[in-house]
Amino acid sequence: MRRMIISGNWKMYKTLEETITFFEEFSAWEKDFSHKNQLLIFPPNLYTITALEMTRENDIDIGVQNIYFKDFGAYTGEISSPMLTSIGCKYALVGHSERRHIFHETDEEINLKILALIENRKHIVFCIGEKESQRDEGLTEQVLDTQLAIGLQDVHEKDMQHVVIAYEPVWAIGTGKTATPEIAQDAHAFIRKWLSTHFNSSVANKTRILYGGSVKAANCKELLEKQDIDGALIGGASLKIKDYIEIIKISEEVAQKKDQ
Ligand code: PEP
Repeated sequence: MRRMIISGNWKMYKTLEETITFFEEFSAWEKDFSHKNQLLIFPPNLYTITALEMTRENDIDIGVQNIYFKDFGAYTGEISSPMLTSIGCKYALVGHSERRHIFHETDEEINLKILALIENRKHIVFCIGEKESQRDEGLTEQVLDTQLAIGLQDVHEKDMQHVVIAYEPVWAIGTGKTATPEIAQDAHAFIRKWLSTHFNSSVANKTRILYGGSVKAANCKELLEKQDIDGALIGGASLKIKDYIEIIKISEEVAQKKDQ
């Protein structure tokens, strides 16, 4: 069975003080978890070291929200995969829709980032998803196909153990418009089939595919119960410790049922 991941993308929110408070409160709650699911937070990159140090004794992973694909050099403002190694950070988010649409990141650049992270033995959460107009035009599968084909170009079958895919329909991110569990399951099934065709059935069965887009405590159960949904990438609702804890607890009950 694939271990679910309940991950949080904090985007450009929280002060250092708020980050410290979150992880102090998380630590106090952790004894209540079954640890069935993997937990992963992407704080603003500036707080990565603090988050890593604060969670050393906790069962939660920390990742960065973005990296550059070069290892070192004159790239002002950027951070690289070897820098992650130097601070003991093992995870990175790549291709988030805000990176794609606000910062005009292309599929080709996303691919270079994924290859750099693999080369540096990091774990990647690779985000894909269609815009509302693309869904309305019936182009969802075509968009996902292109994002997967270019994003995973030259990634070898053995390296797919480092890759988690996050399906995040752009129209559902930060809008409060969640995909129905059926819409999300259809997209996840398409992605799993794609992995089977382009790699093999073992990669398809083992790769975890997360859903992201206005996930909250009130809607996560029905989404996580779906066969091909292996967790969530949560923006807004991961910022408040109580909401995040509630989602973790619901996800543990769902994982328990999925195991039976
Ligand atoms: C995200 O940032 O990846 C996300 C899905 O945000 P939200 O949960 O707020 O829609």
